Amino acid sequence: MSSLAVHTLYSLLNGLDELSCQRAFLPSTEETERLNRHRQRLSSLETDTPLDDFDLLAVTTSFELDWLNLPLCLDLGGIPPRRSERTDAHPFLLGGGPCFTANPLPVLNLFDAIYIGEVEPRLPDLQALTQLPRDQWAEYLSTRPGFFVPGMTRSPVQRQYATMLDKIITATAILTPHTEFANSYLIEMSRGCRQGCSFCLAGQIYRPMRNRPMEALLGPIQSALAHTRRIGLVSASVSDYPRLDQLCHALMQMDPMPLVSVSSMRADGDNRALFELLAASGQQSVTFAPETGTETLRQSVCKRLSDEALFQGITDASDAGLTSVKLYFLVGLPGETEHDRAAIVSLVEHLTRDFPGCSFTISINPFVPKPHTALQAAEVPDYRTMRQLLATVSTALRRLPRVQVRAGSARWAAVQTAISRGDEHLASALVAASTKQVDFSQLRRLFAEAGSNLDQIGIPPIRDGQYPWDIIAMPTAPASKAGL
Ligand code: SF4
Repeated sequence: MSSLAVHTLYSLLNGLDELSCQRAFLPSTEETERLNRHRQRLSSLETDTPLDDFDLLAVTTSFELDWLNLPLCLDLGGIPPRRSERTDAHPFLLGGGPCFTANPLPVLNLFDAIYIGEVEPRLPDLQALTQLPRDQWAEYLSTRPGFFVPGMTRSPVQRQYATMLDKIITATAILTPHTEFANSYLIEMSRGCRQGCSFCLAGQIYRPMRNRPMEALLGPIQSALAHTRRIGLVSASVSDYPRLDQLCHALMQMDPMPLVSVSSMRADGDNRALFELLAASGQQSVTFAPETGTETLRQSVCKRLSDEALFQGITDASDAGLTSVKLYFLVGLPGETEHDRAAIVSLVEHLTRDFPGCSFTISINPFVPKPHTALQAAEVPDYRTMRQLLATVSTALRRLPRVQVRAGSARWAAVQTAISRGDEHLASALVAASTKQVDFSQLRRLFAEAGSNLDQIGIPPIRDGQYPWDIIAMPTAPASKAGL
């Protein structure tokens, strides 16, 4: 429920005639043990209906590592994870979301159909299923744009995207205290990003950037204020919203004034009005992503941010009272040298000197290459080397005053890389790893048996000159003016 995608699907599907949608989630370890002990099946939250009693299961995941839990969920719901082990008596299994859109190959043999792209334009196709017998669903979807039906679809499948975002609202459907964004009303300002960082999946699979008109945001926010003052503005880069100053001003004038937070922003935008709004909302922190220590490496991955702009961004933020600064960096990028990694430490050291009133949280993460990005074929260090690179940078950073360091896991980054660039051979490893709940060393062995050696430098599989994800075509439509 911390994912706006779940809220969106829940609202959109329940808005269709003759169709009702309920929710089920991966249970906690304790709940999983309880289900197994009592031989009960994983059920929906709304009516406690076991998963295998549903007609269709629409599965969405944001991250590749979630696929390690997917077969377990199905198993707990009484559904054989592999498509070949199911019949028409089982629910139809439909997958969708960012990692399915990028490269569904590793889970292709689990699903009856995979949807590629944004769901809004193809809702009528899902509604049409209610008028068809179950045994015709796969064939019907194979004729519809954006659906990949194993054994029926001739690739490549065109990614679908919504062109009329100004006519639909993407926002929180259920307010709850039990999420990352407790009791917050999240609303999507824009979709896509007009930057083109070469490592970024979101920058590719949500093209083109589309903005919602300001008026389309203010109405729902005003209505939401009757239930909560916490408002979260969601966008790949809030700073790129064309009428940001006016929007911030309008939000400041609302009664009661919303307590605003934002998903992410660029350091080099003019964010001063936004910083004032955030400070007035009681926020103390600001997050930027310089990604690299040197400008040269930053430019080589198309991240258009100078050190000067970063310093100016932090100056503006701290002037407004946002003195807790969080910075994101990547390690293991192609072409990165020891000098680039040392420069991360020098840059942060410089910041601690220039901003004595600020505290810094530095997040250092291993680079994970993603399909359809300019760095899709990049070689990445094996996880032991990556662990050493992360440790060197983190240890040096931890010696600096007012600096907290959070380092990502090199092991799990290697698994993520293997899945993100994997092919259909990985399905057996995912099913075995998930249903048996294995540890990392067992996972390593299962992946090796599936042809993906986590101990070696990561390179993508190529067959007949093609990457696994070449079954997906990414249209590069021009940026839409709609909604500005
Ligand atoms: S600015 Fe952020 S969202 Fe946009 S392409 Fe770069 S990393 Fe991706």
